[in-house]
Amino acid sequence: MVLSIYDTFSRKPSAITSLNGVVTMYCCGPTVYRDAHVGNLRTFLLSDLIARTIRLSGLSVEMIQNITDVGHMSDDFQEDKMLEQSKKEKIDPFDIARKYEERFHIDLANLNIVPAQKYPRASESIELMLEMISALILKGAAYVGEDGTVYFDAQSFPGYGHISGNRLESLKPGHRYEYVEDGVKKFHADWSLWKPAGDRKAMVWDSPWGPGFPGWHIECSAMSLKFLHGHINVHVGGIDLRFPHHENERAQSNSITGNESVDLWVHGEHLLFEGRKMSKSAGNVVLLDDVIAKGFDPLALRLCFLENRYRSQMDLSWQSISAAHDTIKRWRTKIAIWGASRSIEIDSTILAVLENDLDTPRVTTYLRSVEKDNNLTDAQKANAFLFADQVLGLELSRTQEVQELTPELIDLLAQRESARSAKNWALSDDLRVRLENAGLEISDSSSGQSWSWR
Ligand code: AMP
Ligand code: ZN
Repeated sequence: MVLSIYDTFSRKPSAITSLNGVVTMYCCGPTVYRDAHVGNLRTFLLSDLIARTIRLSGLSVEMIQNITDVGHMSDDFQEDKMLEQSKKEKIDPFDIARKYEERFHIDLANLNIVPAQKYPRASESIELMLEMISALILKGAAYVGEDGTVYFDAQSFPGYGHISGNRLESLKPGHRYEYVEDGVKKFHADWSLWKPAGDRKAMVWDSPWGPGFPGWHIECSAMSLKFLHGHINVHVGGIDLRFPHHENERAQSNSITGNESVDLWVHGEHLLFEGRKMSKSAGNVVLLDDVIAKGFDPLALRLCFLENRYRSQMDLSWQSISAAHDTIKRWRTKIAIWGASRSIEIDSTILAVLENDLDTPRVTTYLRSVEKDNNLTDAQKANAFLFADQVLGLELSRTQEVQELTPELIDLLAQRESARSAKNWALSDDLRVRLENAGLEISDSSSGQSWSWR
């Protein structure tokens, strides 16, 4: 058996394809002008869960994830997101890109995401994109507008709209799906592959059509075909990328290869935080660093994601992260008591559930029943947990480490002890909150305060 996963293109679960035992995977990566929020991380985790399940079924995976560090325009299509942020932070746009790229890799490591084989940067793949744009012009799928912009000719690709259901005939001029440059494009749904520099000074490259910079969609076509040998078995991204990003990518790639370049298009649903879409204006953008700063194990976030099906919108809360933190702690302690088995045997129930469209919530429910089942031996229980953990990635065989108190926490504890002696309850309560936010549990008794790690 192999993983069967929901394909947005055919609108049904489909078996993963492979060539000579290798599955090629492409996952749209971050635009590195800011930290990834926990929503972005939910989508990045999806590709890890797919890759781990494929490996558990005995195939290997070759995965590429791009780093968008040029060409992704802000929502109002006025400015490159990188250049906008560079102005805000007063740092060179390439320094902005490297800073957030590094933080992206730290987030992935903290979430125990197995790294991709390669993380190609858009800014270092300009040659690849220029080659592809030239080839598209030669094939009659792209044209140079009067202003020097190279456009993809949407009408040259008959299957446009199959992924998202947005057919060309129903796309109206003026819709906010691409830059509006009426009078220059031949057709309102055409999109730019290469844009002339104009007044722009930074992140500009030479091209056969003059100095300029690439559009966003072309990078994923260029990188996926180049680094995955011309064919992609599984393509992953967040649901918002279905249109226009993936629709345009498919048109570009298929026009080059002359066939269907991607077998399965997999999309992860969005994450909400405490009932609302995460946004700067709503002030509810949560980062993995915020989870860690509150003293939670970053893998608690991973467990929260696992307890929701990737295809359903999910709502995250501090309460669910806290509960997941406690669950992981309990499971690690129990597994240490049950005794880790020397070799992990295949648990076909768990494998079948994972291979059935990545039903991770059913796996965690099953593990909870195993945990309570008095008819199972400790070794059987440990085996089920450790087998599942090859995909869950919760590091369940890790023994609960004894964490040392930092000098700051020692000082806060001492301050609280003095506040209590001085009967300054307001200060003592305030210090308790600060200690709890740092991950400690405080209890008071007649003999004084005591603490433990949460
Ligand atoms: P970006 O860095 O904005 O290009 O986004 C990186 C990835 O995160 C893309 O695959 C997006 O579709 C995905 N994404 C954006 N917002 C969310 C969200 N709230 N929940 C889940 N995935 C998201
Ligand atoms: Zn992409």
